[in-house]
Amino acid sequence: MGGTFDPIHHGHLVAASEVQSWFDLDEVVFVPTGRPWQKADREVSPAEHRYLMTVIATAANPRFEVSRVDIDRDGLTYTIDTLRELAAAMPDADLYFITGADAMAAILTWRDHDELFELAHFVGCTRPGHEMDEQTLAGLPAERITLVEIPALAISSTDCRGRVASGEPVWYLVPDGVVQYIAKHRLYSASDSEDPS
Ligand code: ATP
Ligand code: MG
Repeated sequence: MGGTFDPIHHGHLVAASEVQSWFDLDEVVFVPTGRPWQKADREVSPAEHRYLMTVIATAANPRFEVSRVDIDRDGLTYTIDTLRELAAAMPDADLYFITGADAMAAILTWRDHDELFELAHFVGCTRPGHEMDEQTLAGLPAERITLVEIPALAISSTDCRGRVASGEPVWYLVPDGVVQYIAKHRLYSASDSEDPS
């Protein structure tokens, strides 16, 4: 499951857990992006903070892992590079790429999208406020895509960042350890946060 995870929240975790159970996956690997090409226009938190929050959020689940492949690769992050690297590292694995409805709708704009579908099966999770547009779906290879309906959690990282910036709570939207990590490193508040790198 790729994402910016700035910060990781319970919408991500429920989607991952549902898809793990649906396909009986051995593990779900969370892959925080390095510099997401779609978000080149906004300030994304340092990768190390996003990586550590993802580790904290997933630590208790034996089927959840976190990969550094994207944050350790220089330049902008493209999913095709992520999948090539994971496929090379795990040649026997059957890869599933978990993504939300909003990302799924944009997939034809991704780099090398034909090869994407050769490297992995794509799983699109429903997400409140984001419709899967029929026309887009019609343009994608049906045998390489599954849409999974997950319990709706109208949580986004954008909303979490906005809440922290305006002093509203994010308790129960993100895991407790992530609430504490955000406070400890003063992330998303108006004043400068620290850079761990
Ligand atoms: P931002 O608001 O910064 O874009 P986000 O909440 O969309 O953050 P991302 O890190 O962009 O989180 O998302 C990673 C993946 O998780 C995407 O494929 C996204 O569609 C999916 N996702 C995020 N939130 C939810 C949710 N509440 N329910 C289902 N899927 C989600
Ligand atoms: Mg997003």
